[in-house]
Amino acid sequence: MTLDQHARQHLDDLQAHNLSRRLRSAETPLLNFASNDYLGFSTHPQLAAAAQRVLQKPRLGSGASRLICGHGPEHLQLEEALAAFKGTEAALTFSTGYAAAVGTIPALMGKNDVVVLDKLVHASLIDGARLSGATLRVYPHHHLDYLERLLQRHQGQNLLIVTESVFSMDGDTAPLHEIVALKEKYGAWLMVDEAHATGLYGKRRQGWIEVQAVSDQVEIQMGTLSKALGSAGGYITGSRSLIDLLINRARSLIFSTAPPPAISAASLAALELIQSPEGEKRVNQLWDHLRYFSKCLGRSTPPASPICPILLGSEAKALAAAETLHQKGFWVPAIRHPTVARGQARLRVTLSATHTTEQIDQLTHELRRLG
Ligand SMILES: *Cc1c(COP(=O)(O)O)cnc(C)c1O
Repeated sequence: MTLDQHARQHLDDLQAHNLSRRLRSAETPLLNFASNDYLGFSTHPQLAAAAQRVLQKPRLGSGASRLICGHGPEHLQLEEALAAFKGTEAALTFSTGYAAAVGTIPALMGKNDVVVLDKLVHASLIDGARLSGATLRVYPHHHLDYLERLLQRHQGQNLLIVTESVFSMDGDTAPLHEIVALKEKYGAWLMVDEAHATGLYGKRRQGWIEVQAVSDQVEIQMGTLSKALGSAGGYITGSRSLIDLLINRARSLIFSTAPPPAISAASLAALELIQSPEGEKRVNQLWDHLRYFSKCLGRSTPPASPICPILLGSEAKALAAAETLHQKGFWVPAIRHPTVARGQARLRVTLSATHTTEQIDQLTHELRRLG
């Protein structure tokens, strides 16, 4: 069989199961209800201006890994600002959130260790855990009794619990308070991915960890600069020793070119913006929209996050619904296996502070027509 025949066979199989994917241009003027740019920061002039200042030097690429070539002042300033924002000793940035996950877990865990994950954690965390060579144990989503049994069974080994704070495809929040109590009881470490929480929760907008008041008990805080912060890149915050160990052992940092300094400058601008009155205004706007949307859909519970899944079950149904919405001018993705379990396909609606009430009305109208 040629490689192309092999590829074709795989693709036909995906197609037959309604699991085929393709890239689409985002240039068609659709109303975007798919993005994680929750505050509209990606198009904020302050981010673009910060990047342009660096580009005028002029400097685009970083040239090599930071360990080979050193870094610019932008990387350092961003890391200092991140640590201050999150209230930790130190921070380290990676070129993406994905790189932060697959670099960090294997830097800390190995063959004789155990990584315990919530069933619904993001692919980057699963990949990181697998790469580490540690034993993987999975507990059903939010199932604290099950988690405790796993911790009990492996007590005495190096144990790392890995969870998201806001789950990327379900939009619900983790009971961090309870998880912290368990990890303290059994001497485990805790890694929390705040990809969908950073910038959106808490008085200081640090994330869900701030709301749950567990910052001092979470050894490894992870996040991305590419969602609410509107820029690009991943980060880890924690103790100085954690960050120093990652600098020595995280392969996605050591063997990868440093992010372009202009991007780090834009991320720093985003961090300043999120802590400013304008940041606060945008976050309030987003939560107003979310309460409104929730009410329009007739939901009785208040929204937990800007991620509003509409469960449809079959992959075919989700695809058809997304296609209908596309034809009507809305961009709402159908989320299918392997992003979610088989038979758990859904539309994933995300709102942004930059939507208008009219746009939300239009979407609700179409969703109702879809039943
Ligand atoms: C998006 C996402 C990541 C990856 O971040 P990128 O910067 O897009 O690579 C990691 N974890 C979760 C939960 C995410 O949703």
